[in-house]
Amino acid sequence: MQFEIGTTRIFHCPFCDVDTPHTVKARRGAMYGIVCTNCRNGSMVSDLDLRIYQLKWEEELQTILDSLVDDSYDDDD
Ligand SMILES: [Zn+2]
Repeated sequence: MQFEIGTTRIFHCPFCDVDTPHTVKARRGAMYGIVCTNCRNGSMVSDLDLRIYQLKWEEELQTILDSLVDDSYDDDD
Protein backbone atom coordinates (compact mmCIF):
# COMPACT_ATOMS: atom_id res chain seq x y z
CA MET A 1 0.00 0.00 0.00
CA GLN A 2 1.31 3.42 -1.00
CA PHE A 3 0.11 6.74 0.26
CA GLU A 4 -0.28 9.09 -2.69
CA ILE A 5 0.68 12.75 -2.39
CA GLY A 6 -2.45 14.84 -1.97
CA THR A 7 -4.58 12.10 -0.39
CA THR A 8 -5.94 12.39 3.12
CA ARG A 9 -5.36 9.91 5.92
CA ILE A 10 -6.60 9.79 9.47
CA PHE A 11 -3.68 10.15 11.88
CA HIS A 12 -3.13 11.21 15.47
CA CYS A 13 -2.09 14.86 15.43
CA PRO A 14 0.45 15.59 18.21
CA PHE A 15 -0.66 19.25 18.21
CA CYS A 16 -4.44 18.77 18.33
CA ASP A 17 -3.97 15.57 20.40
CA VAL A 18 -6.86 13.95 18.53
CA ASP A 19 -7.28 11.82 15.41
CA THR A 20 -7.66 14.19 12.48
CA PRO A 21 -7.47 13.97 8.68
CA HIS A 22 -3.93 14.63 7.44
CA THR A 23 -3.00 15.51 3.88
CA VAL A 24 0.03 13.65 2.53
CA LYS A 25 2.37 16.40 1.30
CA ALA A 26 5.68 14.72 0.59
CA ARG A 27 7.41 11.38 0.54
CA ARG A 28 11.11 10.71 1.10
CA GLY A 29 11.99 7.03 1.12
CA ALA A 30 9.90 5.41 3.85
CA MET A 31 9.04 8.74 5.48
CA TYR A 32 6.01 10.87 4.73
CA GLY A 33 5.43 14.54 5.44
CA ILE A 34 1.81 15.00 6.46
CA VAL A 35 -0.12 18.13 7.38
CA CYS A 36 -3.02 18.22 9.82
CA THR A 37 -6.10 19.68 8.11
CA ASN A 38 -7.30 21.01 11.47
CA CYS A 39 -4.28 22.95 12.85
CA ARG A 40 -2.11 22.92 9.69
CA ASN A 41 0.97 21.68 11.57
CA GLY A 42 3.20 19.24 9.74
CA SER A 43 4.49 15.91 11.01
CA MET A 44 6.94 13.33 9.71
CA VAL A 45 5.81 9.71 9.95
CA SER A 46 7.10 6.44 8.59
CA ASP A 47 4.94 4.59 6.09
CA LEU A 48 4.80 1.75 8.63
CA ASP A 49 3.18 4.07 11.19
CA LEU A 50 0.68 5.24 8.60
CA ARG A 51 -0.11 1.69 7.60
CA ILE A 52 -0.56 0.50 11.19
CA TYR A 53 -2.77 3.48 11.90
CA GLN A 54 -4.83 2.85 8.79
CA LEU A 55 -5.41 -0.77 9.81
CA LYS A 56 -6.22 0.20 13.38
CA TRP A 57 -8.65 2.81 12.14
CA GLU A 58 -10.37 0.38 9.76
CA GLU A 59 -10.58 -2.17 12.59
CA GLU A 60 -12.19 0.40 14.90
CA LEU A 61 -14.59 1.44 12.17
CA GLN A 62 -15.55 -2.19 11.65
CA THR A 63 -16.08 -2.61 15.40
CA ILE A 64 -18.32 0.47 15.43
CA LEU A 65 -20.28 -0.82 12.43
CA ASP A 66 -20.61 -4.25 14.05
CA SER A 67 -21.89 -2.71 17.27
CA LEU A 68 -24.44 -0.68 15.30
CA VAL A 69 -25.68 -3.89 13.68
CA ASP A 70 -25.85 -5.56 17.11
CA ASP A 71 -27.86 -2.64 18.49
CA SER A 72 -30.38 -2.81 15.67
CA TYR A 73 -30.82 -6.53 16.31
CA ASP A 74 -31.48 -5.76 19.98
CA ASP A 75 -34.16 -3.27 18.98
CA ASP A 76 -35.90 -5.95 16.94
CA ASP A 77 -36.30 -8.11 20.07
ZN1 LIG B 1 -3.56 19.14 14.28
